[in-house]
Amino acid sequence: KNKVQDKVAIVTGGASGIGEATVLALAENGARAVVIADIQDEKGQKLAESIGTNRSTYIHCDVADENQVKSLVESTVQLFGHLDVIFCNAGIASFGEQNVLDFDLDLCDKLFAVNVRGTAACLKHAARAMVDGGVKGSVICTSSAAANMAGDRFTDYIMSKSGVLALMKCASYQLGEHGIRVNCVSPGLVATPLTCKTLEMGVEEVENAFQSCYYLKGVLKAKHIADAVLFLASDDSEFVTGQNLIVDGGFIFQ
Ligand code: NAD
Repeated sequence: KNKVQDKVAIVTGGASGIGEATVLALAENGARAVVIADIQDEKGQKLAESIGTNRSTYIHCDVADENQVKSLVESTVQLFGHLDVIFCNAGIASFGEQNVLDFDLDLCDKLFAVNVRGTAACLKHAARAMVDGGVKGSVICTSSAAANMAGDRFTDYIMSKSGVLALMKCASYQLGEHGIRVNCVSPGLVATPLTCKTLEMGVEEVENAFQSCYYLKGVLKAKHIADAVLFLASDDSEFVTGQNLIVDGGFIFQ
């Protein structure tokens, strides 16, 4: 408890799935404020209200639009004084199969606009606010266990999540002199609206899809990813930077 006492945090993609679980974990662990940034306004607003309007707020922000990201960070600093933590988590999955032989590069652009460019915009503006405010903050980006895998489809998604790892590596090196830490969390398969829709499966089916491939027995949940983010957001990881924390129960094909 109270792992992130008094910290001000932004969670992009905070209205659903892994982002939502992280918003709740940050709030339960003493965050001064959690700003939920998303494009699902109703869900985001309801979540903020459930935490309490003095400790949470929802801000509409399409991460693919740099101006919206800039004003998200500015509004957060105006409302809560400074920024300690950003979880750059908003992401989308491939729009189609995306096997390299039939690669639709226009769709690839659309995906990169959110997963790579969007993550870079959030990282850029959050880090700028931290540097200007003299805050030794923590940036956590969502990559994926899939970033290290070969697959017969979803090529653009896998490329995008490798791109997030590369961004994290460069940023952690460049921001180290300011005391700002940058790390990634890489989830294995978690049943969320994103994965259920992409894989065209129900929650239970997604949860069971890889179970026999984990070292640990049990079901990987959004809460497990949120706990890893909590660690990276907290002072418990104060000398950890440039790392990719894979949370997948130990996957036999990695
Ligand atoms: P989700 O769909 O439940 O949540 C993603 C959230 O991001 C949604 O609320 C959505 O509205 C928001 N979002 C989408 N585009 C946005 C944009 N342009 N601007 C702002 N917000 C936007 O999915 P999730 O599974 O919780 O995914 C969260 C992150 O985790 C994504 O980056 C995803 O790629 C990554 N990830 C998920 C899994 C998994 O198995 N669920 C595995 C590895 C990585």
